[in-house]
Amino acid sequence: MPLSWFACAHCGFWQHHFAPPDCPVCTDVRNDLPADGWRFLPEADVAATHDGTVREVAPGLWAFTTSPALGLAGTGWLIVRDGGNIAFEAAPYYSAAMLAQLRALGGIRFLSASHAHGYGALFQLQRVFAPDVVAIQRLDLRMTKAFRVNMPFDDRLALAPGYTLHHVGGHYEGQACLHDAPGRRLFCGDMFKIDQDAAGRSHAISSHKAFHKDIPLTHMELRQYRDTIAPLDFDALLTPFEYAPEVDRAVALAALDDGLSRAPGVHRLPL
Ligand SMILES: [Zn+2]
Ligand SMILES: [Zn+2]
Repeated sequence: MPLSWFACAHCGFWQHHFAPPDCPVCTDVRNDLPADGWRFLPEADVAATHDGTVREVAPGLWAFTTSPALGLAGTGWLIVRDGGNIAFEAAPYYSAAMLAQLRALGGIRFLSASHAHGYGALFQLQRVFAPDVVAIQRLDLRMTKAFRVNMPFDDRLALAPGYTLHHVGGHYEGQACLHDAPGRRLFCGDMFKIDQDAAGRSHAISSHKAFHKDIPLTHMELRQYRDTIAPLDFDALLTPFEYAPEVDRAVALAALDDGLSRAPGVHRLPL
């Protein structure tokens, strides 16, 4: 059987394999196993059945999403800028039309993601755009077999002038966030979960080790989040799933302080 790419039908995680025996995201404690057994979708099947949408959510900030939903159904963010575009997180799959739009926006020079839940079809972005930099925190390298990391980092990496990756751990050991100083945004991975209504208005914020299973973080993990983001200025928060212009630095720190004031537990702080 030839080496190819397969998406887990349950969570959407991509593997470069000939016959994946299981899915490392689904077997992890943060996720559930598929109720009816493993099913892995060959790339050609996904390509034949999925398209997506591309929209500019703020000036120079583009969101790529896949439809119908695949796996965790995350968003691939693209920051269009002089000196080379930055892609952070990836959509579950990019159709030919989505890739053409990405190319028309200038392609990708810098590519990174917070942790495995944000990888999506990152392998496609590397295959098509051959970015100069593919940066992932070193503790997440074990999840990156579908693509090639050429710039692993420890605590911090200046991805491009004004754009810095910070290791935050917590939810995933190798989780990192991207601080966009020029845009005053924090791409926070799954450090935070934002509950939103159908219109995209945010109404609660929380932090978790595992969102679906309501496993809380420890105080040490919350303190690490706090110590990392307290020096960073931002007016908006972006998870792999939500764009939350309502959550600035003060709100994010208040949510962490609320968690630190209680016994470990999942608490959704109203916004
Ligand atoms: Zn899976
Ligand atoms: Zn996650």
